[in-house]
Amino acid sequence: MLPSAGSCAICDRQLFPVPMWVGMVPPLWNVLATWKSAPSFFSGELHFSCLRTWPHRRNLRAELIDVLTTESHSIAITVPDIDDPYIVHRRSFGFEHMMHDGQTCQIFGAAHTRALLVIENDGPWFFLSDSQRTAVENGDEWQSEPVVEEVFLREPIAGDISGMNFGQVVDAAGVGDFYGGPDGWRSIDYEFLAFDVEKRILTYSVATGTGLPQEAAHIIGEWKS
Ligand SMILES: [Zn+2]
Repeated sequence: MLPSAGSCAICDRQLFPVPMWVGMVPPLWNVLATWKSAPSFFSGELHFSCLRTWPHRRNLRAELIDVLTTESHSIAITVPDIDDPYIVHRRSFGFEHMMHDGQTCQIFGAAHTRALLVIENDGPWFFLSDSQRTAVENGDEWQSEPVVEEVFLREPIAGDISGMNFGQVVDAAGVGDFYGGPDGWRSIDYEFLAFDVEKRILTYSVATGTGLPQEAAHIIGEWKS
């Protein structure tokens, strides 16, 4: 897997991939930038805190709903000066069953598994595996699976990064606010693994215990009882 380019598609500042705090729109999703006048696609990583206040968040959310929660289908895009429309194919992700349409989020279920997709009305989206759903149902401390991430540091960070905790890393990069400030940093289980000085690639393991909208956690807990 290629390292993250370390850039937020919304604010264009340093991004550190962290579950529940950062989203990734892969090019394969064929998400249209419907807020632009000329036909184009949108992809990349973004801070969820940027997304929640982004003027185009509702447009992006509508696209994500179409991509992630509808059956396989094709859409035709009219391209200026070209007669035939450009056809985009979207394959089903399986989350076609809306289970909750609330004040802050919608929750979609899959047909053959207990996995869930939660999409905030302001855009951020979260996939819950069967075991994660069970944890939420039981009211247990939510914990994402630990993942190893590699990220390019767009600017050098002063000091010995190997000895820094997560708060120190994001603070030094000037993006601490995008991860909830000190309260958010404490909820992020970060472990330094390696740093390639020449390539400025930081490798770390990360898991996190917060981020699911309260409404979603409450509703999912009620479904069990
Ligand atoms: Zn951002």
